Amino acid sequence: MPRRGVGRGRTRARRTARDAPQRRPGGPSRAEELERLAATIRACRLCPLGRSRTHAVVYRGSLRPRAVFVGEAPGAEEDRQGVPFVGRSGAILDKAVASLGDDLGPYGVLNVVKCRPPANRFDPGAARACRPYLDRQLELLAPEFLVPLGAKALRALAPEAPPILRTAGQELASRYGVLFPLVHPAATLRSRRLAERWQDDLGLLHAWLRGRPLQRA
Ligand code: SF4
Repeated sequence: MPRRGVGRGRTRARRTARDAPQRRPGGPSRAEELERLAATIRACRLCPLGRSRTHAVVYRGSLRPRAVFVGEAPGAEEDRQGVPFVGRSGAILDKAVASLGDDLGPYGVLNVVKCRPPANRFDPGAARACRPYLDRQLELLAPEFLVPLGAKALRALAPEAPPILRTAGQELASRYGVLFPLVHPAATLRSRRLAERWQDDLGLLHAWLRGRPLQRA
């Protein structure tokens, strides 16, 4: 039974990959723009995390995603490989995505902050410095909806939203369009209650997806 929504409801017309910025004649393609952006991020030293990281962690997934999962910042394994959500959290996320099957469609994964913060402590200053990269990624990828994973990602995308435990598992309005927040997969490793919440909310996400069939371009 879906929980009563705080801030739920549709906000604006669905954004789709077709709403992405159009290529100007002779201008770079979306893939080229994303690759240029990725190169800029990999070379970035705008904040102190640029000196302590091993790799900046940019994106993995479809270049025409229907959904983008948004984490807070890379952990140790992501920093080592330069790929988002490849550690234990990534395994949980991948299993969850597999359980959604064809109802999800193409998707991608990225983080609010692109470089690993020491001791995995979320760094609000780095999040501010990194924000233009996040905004540009989302502008180019133009997903239909976003799935913030955990409180920090939700706060970054919808600062005015109620806490994650009141918003996870339901549609939520934001300036980035439609969100469907979930608790962070890593939290399921620490708490049986949150592991159960993760599974419940995944079921709600699946039901929500079945109610808005994939519109193929
Ligand atoms: S965290 Fe973001 S702003 Fe800071 S160095 Fe990395 S890419 Fe640049």
